[in-house]
Amino acid sequence: MNYYESGVERIRNIDANLYIEISKKRYEEVRSKGEYEADANLIAEYYRRVGVFLQFISKEAASIYIGMDMLLGFKMEENEWDIFLETCPNFNKIDIMLMKLISIHYLRWCSLLDVRDNIAVQFPDIYEPMIKLFERGGGRINTHHHELVGGFGAFSRSIHANRGDMTPFDISDVALENIIKEVELAEGYLADYKNGNLSENNCIRCGNKLLILPNLSDYGYQWYKIKCETKDCFDKNFS
Ligand SMILES: [Zn+2]
Repeated sequence: MNYYESGVERIRNIDANLYIEISKKRYEEVRSKGEYEADANLIAEYYRRVGVFLQFISKEAASIYIGMDMLLGFKMEENEWDIFLETCPNFNKIDIMLMKLISIHYLRWCSLLDVRDNIAVQFPDIYEPMIKLFERGGGRINTHHHELVGGFGAFSRSIHANRGDMTPFDISDVALENIIKEVELAEGYLADYKNGNLSENNCIRCGNKLLILPNLSDYGYQWYKIKCETKDCFDKNFS
């Protein structure tokens, strides 16, 4: 199988049931806080990979709407959207424009890999984090003003080349499952704490003690920082 054929197979296998009527639901009805945290890592890794690519082609920034193929000067066909829906009929049921657009550009990138485009072959996995995001059910992404938004929070709508300077994010299944597990652990810990149960919990990453630090915002809103005793380890805010 060439890149395009295996790409089509992946996109066709994205389960439309994960996305039907999703826009009518609140974010917290769709995915857990831990899942959104893992989604954010996938998006951050995509931004990093695009950043590396932008540095390579000496471009300062690119919109989330622009395909990598377009940055190399390739234009979309007039009937590209229709062809996509014919090729991947499961997407007839998925009403998320940005998810379709990124999938289209992913397949176009696969075609460039098949003809061994000399720049594309240096970035064969650039779309991997986003396709993985869609496969895992985290494809509800949208833009609002200058931001890419979803249950994960917000990213800027334009991706800057300096993103490429970041340390790579681990997007292996094991790493993503660990992110979900440690958020679940912290949520359980906080629920116990609120019920007056003061048992200790340890960090999944390093085994040290997790601390709960209650905070009150200026507006009287109660929130909690849960952080590992180890410096620069687990550190997230919960309410
Ligand atoms: Zn730790």
